[in-house]
Amino acid sequence: MNSRHASLIAEIESEVRQTRQELGFDRLAPAVRAALSAVPRHTFVPPAQRDLAYANHPLPIGNGQTISQPYIVAIMSQLLQCGAGERVLEIGTGCGYQAAVLAAMGLAVYTVEIVPELAQRARTTLLELGYDQVQVRTGDGWQGWPEAAPFAGIIVTAAAPRIPKPLLEQLRPGGRLVIPVGAPEAIQDLCVYVKGLSGEVKGHRVLPVRFVPVTGGLGRQDTP
Ligand code: SAH
Repeated sequence: MNSRHASLIAEIESEVRQTRQELGFDRLAPAVRAALSAVPRHTFVPPAQRDLAYANHPLPIGNGQTISQPYIVAIMSQLLQCGAGERVLEIGTGCGYQAAVLAAMGLAVYTVEIVPELAQRARTTLLELGYDQVQVRTGDGWQGWPEAAPFAGIIVTAAAPRIPKPLLEQLRPGGRLVIPVGAPEAIQDLCVYVKGLSGEVKGHRVLPVRFVPVTGGLGRQDTP
């Protein structure tokens, strides 16, 4: 970890303290902190952006997509409340940075990306860094990954107009879905949904966020 990496983590910690009321925690969990320290973020950004890799900002990664802001990656990883060895699903692999952070936390990661070039690039980067416990699939993540379900946690890193039903179905009892909900090109709500032991789902809003929208056709098909 270089000094820019260390000051990024200090900045994330400070933003976590400032938003502790919304988050329900006031510091990074040791596993999240260690994972953020371990993953070289510069490896996930295009060469032209490398100088900015340790700033607490989202960055463009090509194909009109972004790498999420490190603070957002940190809090979403923590809101999942999953521990080493548990299975988690990510929708929206992008460059693979969030998936790498989850893998560095010891989680078994399944991640779905709709843009084939991004999925391929993420696969290569993750393998080169040795995160071979991450499974990357190209496709529309709205339908989740039924063959690998149930998941202890599901994280959606693109804004969804509503909660994808297949994702709730693929959560195990006690599992958590962390998802930005709201209209594209707007401020969305980062929400956490928890599936109770008898299958009932309760959600709450955490913070206003801004994500690129979920794309693909499946999102329009399971409207109640
Ligand atoms: N998780 C990334 C950020 C991803 S940006 C990180 O670690 O920085 C959101 C990603 O979601 C984009 O790459 C976009 O192509 C992808 N996406 C959008 N709609 C999707 C869908 N229906 N299924 C899977 N991926 C989708």
